[in-house]
Amino acid sequence: TGPSSQHSFKAETKRLLDIVAKSLYTDREVFVRELTSNASDALEKRRHLELSSEVEIDPDTQNEPLEIRISVDKVLNTFIIQDTGIGMTFEELNENLGTIARSGTREFLGKLDKAAAEGSKGVRDNIIGQFGVGFYSSLMVADEVKVYTRSALKGSTGYCWSTDGSGSYDVAEAEGVAVGTKIIIKLKDDSKEFSSKYTVESILKKYSNFVGHPITLNGTTVNTIGALWTLDKSSITEEQHRDFYRFISHAYDEPRFHLHYKTDSPLAINALLYVPERHSELFGMGRMEPGVNLYSRKVLIQAKAKKLLPDWLRFMRGVVDSEDVPLNISREHLQDSALISRLRNVLSSRIVKFLDEQSRKDPEAYNTFYKDFALFIKEGVATDSANRSDAAKLLRYETSSTDAGAVSPLQAVLDRNPDQPAIFYTVSPSRTLALESPYVEPFVRKGYEVLLCAESVDEFVMNNLAEYGGKKIVNVESREGQEMVRDSEEDAKEGTGALTKEEARELADWMDNVLGDRVSEVDPSPRALSVPALIVDHDSAVLRRIMQMAPSSPA
Ligand code: ADP
Ligand code: MG
Repeated sequence: TGPSSQHSFKAETKRLLDIVAKSLYTDREVFVRELTSNASDALEKRRHLELSSEVEIDPDTQNEPLEIRISVDKVLNTFIIQDTGIGMTFEELNENLGTIARSGTREFLGKLDKAAAEGSKGVRDNIIGQFGVGFYSSLMVADEVKVYTRSALKGSTGYCWSTDGSGSYDVAEAEGVAVGTKIIIKLKDDSKEFSSKYTVESILKKYSNFVGHPITLNGTTVNTIGALWTLDKSSITEEQHRDFYRFISHAYDEPRFHLHYKTDSPLAINALLYVPERHSELFGMGRMEPGVNLYSRKVLIQAKAKKLLPDWLRFMRGVVDSEDVPLNISREHLQDSALISRLRNVLSSRIVKFLDEQSRKDPEAYNTFYKDFALFIKEGVATDSANRSDAAKLLRYETSSTDAGAVSPLQAVLDRNPDQPAIFYTVSPSRTLALESPYVEPFVRKGYEVLLCAESVDEFVMNNLAEYGGKKIVNVESREGQEMVRDSEEDAKEGTGALTKEEARELADWMDNVLGDRVSEVDPSPRALSVPALIVDHDSAVLRRIMQMAPSSPA
């Protein structure tokens, strides 16, 4: 074998640009988000330079407000975005816009790290770019992109950089360029919609509403509501919460509870989540859409993100901002990413814990919430194995010991009855029916507390939960349950005029004979009951009702 040698990859620039522009993003509209994010980064860098006073800034610039101005023109079919940010020198233009996947912003942050500059934390939090590909998303919609730019450094020259996306670009000095950057996009015929003020306004509101600098569109400010989650918890008023909740969830009700949750590990998360007052699943309007939006450094990654929370928490509203989520990740990719499932794990257990905390803090408010939202909690216990045991803390039921209408958490039942061998429940449409049931009777007589479940779905909830606080959950109608309340022979005889053992056996044999195949066994067991016989271990009352509705079922 000959001597080895190292070679650089060569790239077919035009093809590479095509790939970046057309395959990296699913929606063309994200070019607005990308250019706006770049403008915001440029403003952030200028602010930092001015504060750090390491370099001399162009004196004209210092009076310019930090802002992003966008204008669209249907007749000229153009989209223009201008910022009063840091701008670019000739070298920076070539390096940053002339090198695919090179991020000047990332380099800027790297320098900050080295300098460990005082106050650099603020800049870092507000800076968005890092991949060096966002700019090229403009090629999805452009016949031609022109970038006029002048660096904020004192004495800088203005330049015009341009490309039609076919693999090369031109740079030339230009006269009268303001400090900052102005990008003029001549839109393709198939992208005319981005010259419509209405369209661009809704895109800006969707993705860039919370960008930290004012954005104007044809002269009017677009982003009027701030990123509330970035403020200090204690400084946020109830009114701000209400307005913010209404804004992000397009709702008019009041949020019941809010959870402002920040953490740095295992992931950087800043979440502001709301439990709404109302949900729409009671009114037969079908399943609700998830309502939590995913952001990365104040820029929308995905609205109503599907897998961000488990399905049963679809009633939650709010925002989750995680700088660990990269900006340029496509939706299809995002849904199944490991990152999303890590976010989901952290968030869902935090929300469950939060609701539990609320129930202790203000049981009355919690119980009112529970009245309307029980179906979601029950769905959670039945389906979300990861959060099941914690979500079960959120369940509330009437019991044979509570007053009618008053509810108890499972834990309270355990606490009141430490000697009870299991958690017992019965499913019955009404409290009166439940309490009159001969199945429930022996439990109550023994002093056990029985959960009175009123809905068919409770059967599934209890079955899937199976145990709580170390105790098994048992249906009173099951053989297992009935065994647990079996009386001793002596107890059963007392005062009931009971049959002798032999008489009971005889009666049982006779019944077995008459009932034939319909029962598997007739068992004379000592039991003090107000009814002569009980069917045990049959299909549950719920299943029985379902079977009775089926036309061919044996009664
Ligand atoms: P990223 O934002 O991820 O770094 P982009 O492709 O969006 O990547 O931009 C590439 C680089 O071009 C940026 O890192 C930045 O250095 C430079 N740049 C882009 N837009 C502007 C702007 N409006 N003002 C100054 N520099 C910019
Ligand atoms: Mg960018």
